[in-house]
Amino acid sequence: MQYVTLNNGVKMPQLGFGVYQIEKDECERCVLDAIETGYRHIDTAQAYNNEEEVGSAVIKSGIPRSEFFITSKIFVNNYGYEKAKKAIEISLERLKTDYIDLMLIHQPFGDYYGAWKAFEEMYEQGRLKAIGVSNFYPDRLVDLCCYSKIPPMVNQIETHPFNQQVEAQKWTEKYNVQIEAWAPFGQGRGEMFSNPAIAEIGKKYNKTVAQTILRWQLQRGIVVIPKSTHQERMKENFDVFDFELSAEDMAKMASLDKKQGFSQPPHNTPEAVEKFFRLSEARKNS
Ligand code: NAD
Repeated sequence: MQYVTLNNGVKMPQLGFGVYQIEKDECERCVLDAIETGYRHIDTAQAYNNEEEVGSAVIKSGIPRSEFFITSKIFVNNYGYEKAKKAIEISLERLKTDYIDLMLIHQPFGDYYGAWKAFEEMYEQGRLKAIGVSNFYPDRLVDLCCYSKIPPMVNQIETHPFNQQVEAQKWTEKYNVQIEAWAPFGQGRGEMFSNPAIAEIGKKYNKTVAQTILRWQLQRGIVVIPKSTHQERMKENFDVFDFELSAEDMAKMASLDKKQGFSQPPHNTPEAVEKFFRLSEARKNS
């Protein structure tokens, strides 16, 4: 495994396993398969409704907790200082652990500054080993970097060949924040897995489109958390450390950028604010 070092010195495995849209009744089995494959970094969230299953799988694996890197995220309905503190306690309970390796603010809406205060406090108590954000456009990220006591260590954003986040990466580098790619395959949209240009690059190294995409992101210094419910694909996605894309192939990958994510509406629009307000209202009591 390759690691990146966050701005607080914490080492984070550069490849992890994402569990978004994995149903409760399948999640424990999937995480156990991922652990058997070799993954030790698992990415979940309060909004995925599967933190409990992630925690059970980690315990059932019999592997010491210290070998894992577990990320969770707090959702908008739990923002504000007091609510966030309670919500983090609930995540700790669901994950059956006394610390979380990385806790993220899931969306940049509502009282996320209040939530960040709770993050800072629990970070100082050692219950969160690293803290960060997700879906923050560069302006929101820089704002938090400038006005917080403890600046974020990670920004998890939609990053894949069609939405490469080159501009965002300039800002994360300036403020020493680690980029983490959600949907490293764009969830397979835009016919990602049958893209002829990526397939041609992969062929040279005897690698699949999925492996080529992950390798390209690793070489850009990005953390990746691909999701699959099939162990064969988990293995394929894990097998990306024995080859290196040439500078020429990195440039070919760079040329595929459309600078547009699939996530609609984009997080810097009023429509996105309204969408997440509605979602937050719907989750008021969870
Ligand atoms: P992804 O880009 O990882 O794509 C997942 C899909 O790709 C799977 O459903 C599977 O059908 C397919 N796939 C996976 N490996 C494959 C392979 N080797 N060959 C062919 N098909 C393959 O999408 P994702 O799950 O949305 O993103 C990954 C993780 O990022 C999530 O599970 C979650 O942990 C995180 N995430 C975070 C946010 C956020 O707002 N912070 C949003 C979405 C996802």
